[in-house]
Amino acid sequence: MKPAGRVIYLDYHATTPVDERVLDAMLPYFTKEFGNAASVTHEYGRRAAEAVERARQQVAALIGAEPREIIFTSGATEANNLAIKGAAWMLRPQRTHIVTTAVEHHAVLDPCKRLAREGWELTVLPVDQYGLVDPDDLRRALRPDTALVSIIAANNEIGTIQYMEEIGRICREHGVLLHTDATQAVGKIPVDVRRWNVDLLSCSAHKIYGPKGVGALYVRRGRPPVRLAPLLDGGGHERGLRSGTLPVPLVVGFGVACELCAQYLDEEARRVACLRDRLQQAILERLDEVYLNGHPERRLPGNLNLSFAYVDGEALLMSLGDIAVSSGSACTSATPHPSHVLEAIGRSEDLARASLRFGLGRWTTQEEIDYAADRVVATVHSLRSMSAIWRTRSQV
Ligand SMILES: *Cc1c(COP(=O)(O)O)cnc(C)c1O
Repeated sequence: MKPAGRVIYLDYHATTPVDERVLDAMLPYFTKEFGNAASVTHEYGRRAAEAVERARQQVAALIGAEPREIIFTSGATEANNLAIKGAAWMLRPQRTHIVTTAVEHHAVLDPCKRLAREGWELTVLPVDQYGLVDPDDLRRALRPDTALVSIIAANNEIGTIQYMEEIGRICREHGVLLHTDATQAVGKIPVDVRRWNVDLLSCSAHKIYGPKGVGALYVRRGRPPVRLAPLLDGGGHERGLRSGTLPVPLVVGFGVACELCAQYLDEEARRVACLRDRLQQAILERLDEVYLNGHPERRLPGNLNLSFAYVDGEALLMSLGDIAVSSGSACTSATPHPSHVLEAIGRSEDLARASLRFGLGRWTTQEEIDYAADRVVATVHSLRSMSAIWRTRSQV
């Protein structure tokens, strides 16, 4: 039986609903507490500024940073752009080499590619069949003119979690800045900027039950401090790194979302992973020729990415109209290309196209999982029964 209600939401990597507790905290800042956090000459501004500083503490606490190391942005896309272009612009002309990986989100890959077109040299590290970067490959890629390394902490398609501590140690030893896009990791697994030795870290509120339109860049302080060139010039907000009036309600919501994640992290990760394992098992034990994408253990608790051989991915997605899932990454599904992440882990074009990404989260229930598993199994059976190539294959 389908649980009462609408389409079952299993796309938590794309975005998440705002937690009611987050919304409640935000609401007063649209109306009564509408002050500009930069206008601290009066009570309105001061109260907004206090709320922003509380949020800064809440975000910092979730990632083991200090509040003054948090720069609020419009989201992880902007945070990634600020980290990558900001560091590249600051360190030229001495250091014009950038290192990244084949499994980054477009919000990292595309700024890197733009810099490459503008004269920077780019090294794209390969990954193994699970999506892991080999730390030795990183060590070999570093050069005296390397400005920055950018490596995604947890992949948004296949959930694979990199060896961040080791990566951080290598970059530190070589005196090279390390940025990580931790948008999927923050709030889902323990993240500690000191333990990971990262200089720059991006995250976003709407992936962790906060509002869309706000995120943060962690910029390490200390000796020597990380220096960035800003993308936006203006009023000098956020230590001059991000001019523009802060969206106080969004920032407040982001802070509360972080506090809730910190509070429930272990419990939620256990519960969600248990449901994910149940979904995986229910599908794998009833269907042949299904392949797991990503690392079997080192992956996000809410992630399940599967390739269904002998099935057309588009047809599969269409037939699963009552389940909101994504094929590969949401950002790549608008274009006909198969996912670059699945390609990087060695999946054939056909298998890459026939893949589904399930993203489980805070409000996913066992009932929904059982229903989704039944629907996926029945749909794959039905599509395969209509496929000539599947029938010839089963005869051999
Ligand atoms: C969602 C996501 C982004 C983009 O974040 P926005 O806040 O929507 O700009 C960047 N990187 C990863 C890994 C993501 O999952």
